[in-house]
Amino acid sequence: MAMKNVIATPEYRQDTLLEEWWNSCEKGNLLPALKKHWRIFVLSVFGNNHDPGKEERLAHKFLFRPMEYFLCRQDPEVVFEELKAKNMPSQLCGKVFKTGEPTYSCRDCANDPTCVLCIDCFQNGAHKNHRYKMNTSGGGGYCDCGDQEAWTSHPFCNLHSPNEVNQDEKNPIETLPVDLTDRASALFMAALQYIVEILTWNQCDNLPSDLQVEGELNDTYITMLFNDEVHTFDQVIKTLQRAVKHCTAQQAREFATLVDREGRATVYRGCFTSCEQCRTIIDQSTSRHGSKPLKVQVMHTVVVAHQTFCLRLMVWLQKMIEKSDGLRRLFCLLSMKPQEDGKSLMEKLLLHDTQLWKVARILSHQLLMAGVLMDQECKKQFAVIFTKWYPNVMRDFARDDHDHEVCVASLSVQIYTVPSLARMLVTDHDLLDVILVPFLAACEEKKNANGVLSLSKADRTPSFKRACFMLYDLKYALLCKPTSDEWSDKLRESFLRGHQSFLKLLKMMQGMDEVKRQTGMHLEYEPEWEGAFNLQMRVDDVISSFTEWCSTDRTVYIEAYRQAAQMLSQCRDTTQKSEQHTVCGHTVKCLKYDVQSQPVSIHLPLSRYLAGLHVYMGDYNLQFGCSELNVQGLDPVKMIEPPLRVQVLIAQSQAGLWRRNGYALLNQIYFYHNVKCRQEMYDKDILMLQIGASAVDSNEFLIHLLNRYGLLLWIRPEYDVPTGQDDNVRQTIMLAEEFLNLLLIILGERYVPGLGQVTHEDTLKREVIHLLCISPMSNSELSKNLPDSTNLKADIEDAIHAVANFRKPTSVGTAGSGKFELKNECYKEFNPYFYHYCRTDQSQAEETQIKRKKEEKSANHTLPPPVPPKFTPQFAQISNLLQSDVLVHILSLILQRSVAVRSRSWSETQLDRVLHLIGLALHEQRRNIHEGNHNFDFIGKALKGEPNFTQLLESLVTDPKNISHDSTKDLLSWILQKFIEVRQMTSSAEANGPVEQLASSSKEENEAAKKRKARLAAKRKEKIIAKISQMQQNFIRDNADLFESTDADSSLTRGTSEMDISESAHHETPVALGKYQSLPCSIGITKATCILCQEEQEISHNSRAMVLAGFVQRSTVMSQCKSRNPTDGENLDPLFTSSDLHVGSFTNSCGHTMHADCWQSFFQAILVKERRRLSRIPHSLSYNIVQLEYLCPLCESLSNTVIPLVPALHSLVTDSDLCDVNLSFGDWLDGLQKTVKNATKQESSSASKGDPFPFLPSSLSSITKMMADSVASNFQLLWQYVNNTKGGRFSESLMEMMKKFAKDVYSFGLGVDPDDMNHRVSIVAWNTCAYTIINLEQYLRYENKPLFGASPSRNVDCINALVKFAAVCSHIMPQEVIKKHCLRLLSGLLSNGLGEGDDPQCIIDVDMFHYLVAVTMALPSLYTEGTTASNLPLNSLNNQYILELVLTAHIVQVMLLHDRSQDGEEGGMEMENDADSVALMSMYTEIRRKAGCLPPSNNDPLPWQLTRHIKRAVLPFLRCATVLYHNLTGVPIPAQLQEWTEEVEPFCSYLSLPTSFSELFLNQGELLERVVNQWCSSDVLRSRLYSASSRSVVSYPLPVNHLIDLPDDYSQLINQISSFTCPSSKGNDSQLPTMCLVCGLVVCSQSYCCQTEIKDMKVGAATEHTYRCGAGVGILLRVRECQIVLLAGTKGCFIPAPYVDSYGETDQGLRRGNPLHLCKDSYKNLQKMWFTHCIPETVAHNIESHMNFMSIHWQHL
Ligand SMILES: [Zn+2]
Ligand SMILES: [Zn+2]
Ligand SMILES: [Zn+2]
Ligand SMILES: [Zn+2]
Ligand SMILES: [Zn+2]
Ligand SMILES: [Zn+2]
Ligand SMILES: [Zn+2]
Repeated sequence: MAMKNVIATPEYRQDTLLEEWWNSCEKGNLLPALKKHWRIFVLSVFGNNHDPGKEERLAHKFLFRPMEYFLCRQDPEVVFEELKAKNMPSQLCGKVFKTGEPTYSCRDCANDPTCVLCIDCFQNGAHKNHRYKMNTSGGGGYCDCGDQEAWTSHPFCNLHSPNEVNQDEKNPIETLPVDLTDRASALFMAALQYIVEILTWNQCDNLPSDLQVEGELNDTYITMLFNDEVHTFDQVIKTLQRAVKHCTAQQAREFATLVDREGRATVYRGCFTSCEQCRTIIDQSTSRHGSKPLKVQVMHTVVVAHQTFCLRLMVWLQKMIEKSDGLRRLFCLLSMKPQEDGKSLMEKLLLHDTQLWKVARILSHQLLMAGVLMDQECKKQFAVIFTKWYPNVMRDFARDDHDHEVCVASLSVQIYTVPSLARMLVTDHDLLDVILVPFLAACEEKKNANGVLSLSKADRTPSFKRACFMLYDLKYALLCKPTSDEWSDKLRESFLRGHQSFLKLLKMMQGMDEVKRQTGMHLEYEPEWEGAFNLQMRVDDVISSFTEWCSTDRTVYIEAYRQAAQMLSQCRDTTQKSEQHTVCGHTVKCLKYDVQSQPVSIHLPLSRYLAGLHVYMGDYNLQFGCSELNVQGLDPVKMIEPPLRVQVLIAQSQAGLWRRNGYALLNQIYFYHNVKCRQEMYDKDILMLQIGASAVDSNEFLIHLLNRYGLLLWIRPEYDVPTGQDDNVRQTIMLAEEFLNLLLIILGERYVPGLGQVTHEDTLKREVIHLLCISPMSNSELSKNLPDSTNLKADIEDAIHAVANFRKPTSVGTAGSGKFELKNECYKEFNPYFYHYCRTDQSQAEETQIKRKKEEKSANHTLPPPVPPKFTPQFAQISNLLQSDVLVHILSLILQRSVAVRSRSWSETQLDRVLHLIGLALHEQRRNIHEGNHNFDFIGKALKGEPNFTQLLESLVTDPKNISHDSTKDLLSWILQKFIEVRQMTSSAEANGPVEQLASSSKEENEAAKKRKARLAAKRKEKIIAKISQMQQNFIRDNADLFESTDADSSLTRGTSEMDISESAHHETPVALGKYQSLPCSIGITKATCILCQEEQEISHNSRAMVLAGFVQRSTVMSQCKSRNPTDGENLDPLFTSSDLHVGSFTNSCGHTMHADCWQSFFQAILVKERRRLSRIPHSLSYNIVQLEYLCPLCESLSNTVIPLVPALHSLVTDSDLCDVNLSFGDWLDGLQKTVKNATKQESSSASKGDPFPFLPSSLSSITKMMADSVASNFQLLWQYVNNTKGGRFSESLMEMMKKFAKDVYSFGLGVDPDDMNHRVSIVAWNTCAYTIINLEQYLRYENKPLFGASPSRNVDCINALVKFAAVCSHIMPQEVIKKHCLRLLSGLLSNGLGEGDDPQCIIDVDMFHYLVAVTMALPSLYTEGTTASNLPLNSLNNQYILELVLTAHIVQVMLLHDRSQDGEEGGMEMENDADSVALMSMYTEIRRKAGCLPPSNNDPLPWQLTRHIKRAVLPFLRCATVLYHNLTGVPIPAQLQEWTEEVEPFCSYLSLPTSFSELFLNQGELLERVVNQWCSSDVLRSRLYSASSRSVVSYPLPVNHLIDLPDDYSQLINQISSFTCPSSKGNDSQLPTMCLVCGLVVCSQSYCCQTEIKDMKVGAATEHTYRCGAGVGILLRVRECQIVLLAGTKGCFIPAPYVDSYGETDQGLRRGNPLHLCKDSYKNLQKMWFTHCIPETVAHNIESHMNFMSIHWQHL
């Protein structure tokens, strides 16, 4: 990419230049002068491919600095300071939000939810004490602080409170010096003109003539790649690598990111031909398969240079106008000033928006926002301009393919949500029509032959979807409703024009997606339904806004109602025929229509809109048919027809008549009732039917209904006589039930203001009551089931608190949400026929309520119909239905059928509904009596017939043979009682005596019958229970082994349980090591049942092997140095584990046992099955079969290996083998040191694979030769047992499993490929044993739990198996290898290594417990000859001396590192310095002197403090050693250690150690002294202690790691992260900043910009970090999503972040936006999951239960 013709930076003199500019300015032609300068310098600054820093400097020097001088005529800084001093800062905050910044809205004070605050304003204002919501910004938009119109109160924060001077009075331009104003005008105008000229310039290879460089142009071109929404990142990257010379994958990725972020990127520079070549390749390789090619252009450098300058100039201008109100106003006015062609520069920019690339758009919008939108006066002018061009802007937007927020169309929200602007625009500029006309035009294209919208999914063009953004604008425009005195004639006129257009839209929607009943065949394809519902939901808000506008002005209301009614009548089919029907002597002309054969649509927005308007009629004293309305063809019968058909359709569907119509219809019906849609669908249909019932004669209305339901035959008494055609009876019964249900709704649902005498609060409360009658609910469950709060006129929270009590989560320590419970007094409002209940809700609610009544032990279990509120006068006629002839006939008919012995069309459901209807009628009757209204006479009519209601009810009560439900019986008695009461109230109470008697007697009888029944029922129940339990017993007997084995824990026979151990501990305190070792007992699993074949077996060394399911993983959870990356497994020398524990291998088990061979065949079967499946569907499992993962066949725990079960070790040797030996510690140490010193160097050829250590120990006899005789014989005796050949050999199958486990631990523990013969295999097996024990110890210490008795048995069994395996794993390795390990381990501590190849170990860098385990396990092999089965670490003296030696070394570590310890030495009682302390103190001084520590000072501890510290510091080591030796020797644990203790003494006594630690040093012989000296005087130690090194030094006791501390307030976290930028793309925003909870680092996750590679796999930043920080396992927080990501290798899952709102609920994705606070318990649980290595397991289980997690490419996160 060599550049030819690099333009040398030309020389110029600034003063000459300025002089020239000033002169031109005065003459009024500044622009040409500027251009003259720019045409040279723009190219030299931006056309030379300088690095960004240099470009910045040059631009400032040659381009911007001169302009600033021009403007100021002196030092700009001085002038700008002066301006600033005079400036009246705007009251507006106006901070533009970046993606991810937190925004706050106040639910108490914000005018609408789009009014938001930035965090500074929020925290400095009043709203933080109100009920607020928080969210993260999607970018764009600005802070509304200071905008009086955005807030009902507290519009200012403390930072933006208004100045004393009222600035609105003054034109801010007048504050500027006059000459500055002139120059600024000229400069701003010229700059804007230039910007518009360049940005609208559409040629690629030359510029306008006045910008052409004189002379010859250089010939450098640029291949420019543009953004598009079609091609994927990967496609772009691949194409670029192919098309651009020498383009690496990394570069290609950077280009792709740049294109995505800025909208375009220079991908190649060079001569025209090569640029063109590059373009062609890109074009061709992306246009294959007929897709649209990537947009790519070859442009001349000079064009690109000027475009780049343009962008900088916009940024510069923005900076200038932010300096002063005056400059801002000036700039805005200039930008809006019409030019010669009548358009202002701003308009030109506006109209050219979609032609620009992304970053150019964003900058121009920002300039607009900073200028126009910050100045109230200019904002108004801009609003007018924007509205003028609205149709054009929206048309361009529909054709564009960029996201909405990067289109200028998105500015509408900033304008139309301002109430005063919206009102002005609606009044003076026809805003409603301006928005609706282009939207209707877009709809035109979607109309079908009937003129109805048909929105097909198959239609792939997104333009209609984009057009729907206009509906948001319409919603904004209508947000601020005028009060009745705000209406003007102009507003009325303009509103009604918009209203008319809106009705046109509704008309196009009326009748969408008609359905026709399918008979015969099922539908072949599912019809469309989603598009229509989407549109309906978008229009919902607009509909309710229009209704509300209409409701505030009488003139508007009348006109709007007429418009709507007329529009509706146009939709009507005029060709319909009618027919006559007579019922109960009433003859009615009905419309002929058959829902079963003719089309019906569920979309009736026009009818529903009219219904919505109708309820306001009462407010203006209007009624149907009054002269003022004067609407032609306003016939209520016709109006109810469409909604009635929908009810019939749904009833028929319930009755199973529409089965063949498939899921589309079911979905439509579901959403029709759904809480998100029902307000403008179902609810309004019911309202329309109620309107009908109030306007039509009651009998006539009922006949219309019956006719439409097809029930005219059913209500004839003779219908019940069987005629032989029973075919449709079942369906008729169901339709009748639905019909009665509809009547209950029409009569009972009065909670609509205007219809019933209720308020909006009452309505909402009733919803909440009925939800809580189903069950107590959490806040989020409630709000999910309530309508969207933005459409409500009442506050949801108030309503909830009015009727319910909040109950906090039940017990402390459980993380969970609290629930709302209904207040007692509200239960009486319960109506089982509540119209928003679906069937399941209804039955659940009824069940809950009956249960509650029973629990209350009230005698009365009835759930009577609640008393409904009164209708408003306009709707009062509806209750007439209850006394109409037709209804009374129906009620009587069904009561008669209930009494009848046989009835083919009767159902109990019908009776229940009829009883509820009678109940309603009785409520109504009682109310009318109270009000002295005698026109309502249900009782009279009910008593007329023969038999009359009383007789019918009585006979039902006395003989309820047909009724099966107790609830119906209860209701029946209640109704009869009520009937009698109400009847008494009426004056016509003849002969009430007998009835009353009968009622009460019947009541008594009823009670008696009930009791009898209850007794019988109880007896029956007893019998049944007895029978069931008998059956269970039999079953268990028949399947005895099955039952035994399914209970996981009973399948294992353990050795002495922990409780038994303490039992035996009463006699003497057990000792595990040394001469006085106590007798062992069997611990761990001795007998087990195979979970696969159910056979039980003893664990022994020579039979079929048994194994535990196990999981091995690399781990960093205990790392003391988080910045240190885990060493690559290939290069790790694991023999000496680093004291910072920065990586280790952890093994755990679910504790389930299997036969080795059973497991093998099980695993083979999975392998075969999964290999087959894997070839078809990759990533289809929650576990990774390639990594040998499987799920435990019993409990489904994630596993990747099996741990062989070895029998108790002492059972493998005979007691006589371990005879008494009399050897002092000094002699023992001497023997070992002699062995180390006399090691023989080995020929390199025979060294085992990869082992760098070339020494072997010399034979035992050659060592003893060097000893005194008595010592020699004892030393010899010490090792005798190992060569005993009597011990049995391990069975084939056990050996095989041991090898398998060793291999798996090696490869998973180190993260390397398996290698049986590697010398490190046995070391890793020892290490995983040590690491797992340390992890358990730390975890129990963190939880303050005792070592024994507190962990679950699976952990105990696992550790036992690991220890025993570590003890025997030397048997599967060549003895030579173990000998060498042993020698090397000893030399590490006893000498300074053995020469070359083995670096001297530094005492403070070795983890002593890992060392202890390794040396304990390796030591028996030191002198073996040939392979023996008995070289087990069972010699109690050997073990005791090893422990003493290692503990001594550990104490030396503690002393050396004492001053680094954070251990609080303060506190506690002052103690005496006993002899032990004094001795330790002198050792401390000596050791530190040798190590070159600073001379003793005041910092040194007092002797007693030192002792205390040492004890505290070595306690973890002693705890681990106790676990080790307990499992190794089987010596029981003393009772004292089964409780939490911080004392070292009980551990010392169990481990046969002195409790005075000084004894470890004193009188142990001079050799130990020498060894200790050696440790302390090493140069390595000195440099580790005193020179700065990347590797940190630990301190003891090792602190237990925990996850990072999180702030209590979640928004603090959001804010903290909002300043985070992508580390690999020059400070750009990061879309998904993700925080590692282990180390606190934030990475830019799931983004191409930060992708890297691990082992040839592309990985995202989170995976990459996890790989380093957690050895592949990670727990991270996606801050903006409020979500935790768990990662384990290439799998992962999401779980909620541990933050909850005041209701105890989490909010993944911040959807609800309630303030969130840290839930400490949940965080503790996460901490536990992490520390106990349960992340992989959790991931596997979550994938299992969330199928969608399977498809995520977790490694790209
Ligand atoms: Zn702000
Ligand atoms: Zn503010
Ligand atoms: Zn507030
Ligand atoms: Zn088995
Ligand atoms: Zn299991
Ligand atoms: Zn990034
Ligand atoms: Zn980390």
